[in-house]
Amino acid sequence: MCAGSVGDTIDRLVMRHFLAFFSLSLLTAVQLSPLAMGAHRQIDSAFGPLPVFELHSGFWMNLHHTLYQQARQQREKRSGRPNTAQASRLSDAEQRDWDAAVAYYAANFANKDLLFSTEMILLKNQLGDFEDCHELSGAKKKSCDAGLPAKLTRVLDSAAPVYRTHWWPEHDRANRQWVAEVAPLVRTRGLELAQRLAEIYQTKWPAEKIRVDVSAYANWAGAYTTVDPLRVTISSTDPRNQGSAALEVLFHEASHGIAEPVQATIARECRQRDKPIPRDLWHALIFYTTGEVIRPVMTSQGQENNGETPGGGYTPYAVREGLYKRGWDDYLKLLVRFWQPYLDGKSTFDDAIARMVSAL
Ligand SMILES: [Zn+2]
Repeated sequence: MCAGSVGDTIDRLVMRHFLAFFSLSLLTAVQLSPLAMGAHRQIDSAFGPLPVFELHSGFWMNLHHTLYQQARQQREKRSGRPNTAQASRLSDAEQRDWDAAVAYYAANFANKDLLFSTEMILLKNQLGDFEDCHELSGAKKKSCDAGLPAKLTRVLDSAAPVYRTHWWPEHDRANRQWVAEVAPLVRTRGLELAQRLAEIYQTKWPAEKIRVDVSAYANWAGAYTTVDPLRVTISSTDPRNQGSAALEVLFHEASHGIAEPVQATIARECRQRDKPIPRDLWHALIFYTTGEVIRPVMTSQGQENNGETPGGGYTPYAVREGLYKRGWDDYLKLLVRFWQPYLDGKSTFDDAIARMVSAL
């Protein structure tokens, strides 16, 4: 959900620039590969493909995030091997390969942010595109040459059998379980929610389904979204993403990709009034909006109250996780006063944002 991330607007613009540059120079091999042409395997629900989203449980994506997480833990603890339940079952050879991979991630990636580092975004997207490959060097299958740096390819190919034996079955099971739980609501209400959010943000929902990579671990926020191409990564094991929160997390993350008109309008109104652009107002706005749009769906589904709303009903993520209390309280007041009337059809998009900015 990346609440509290710094300078989203600027970073997104910079990222677009870099992505355009890097995708031409570094990813030629990937773009020529038939795998990159859309042969992705999505997890179908029991009823077949879902509308709006394309949900994946990809091997390399999960290995990548697991190595990243363990490398971060190692760096924080500075105490040798990360404390993992599975580690004791590794043979000496497996432990060597795994430790080498974690050490590589600790040295090269652990200090980089999954959301803001162009290198991490490109690597993640590339591993997603090659999810059906058994190895990434192309030694066994030419089309599986992922075009990654040679050392990284060796590291991932040696860690893969260890991960496949000791972690992947459990991670893949958790991912599929998460998808199975959220799928019925995406199937019955997904299209309507997508259309409503696009209408609110004065834009169009993407014509193609939004790719969502479900991963045992995502990032510190439990989920993050990168653009160009628009892709969402969601943790299937993060406690914040479970139960009735799963649907809201999906649509909140997707909103990162479509709520640009909100950022642009806030910026324009601020410039006209010579005011600094408030860093997180747009993010608070998409939290608020997703919560309000999801609320009637969850209430009609009879979802239990999470204990925050007297008298029952659905408690939106931002309320439950205390985001407003942790510095967004003034934003919440503005949203209730000026944005809610727009959601109720009593004001216009431009007017609501102009009034919010004016009251800042
Ligand atoms: Zn967010």
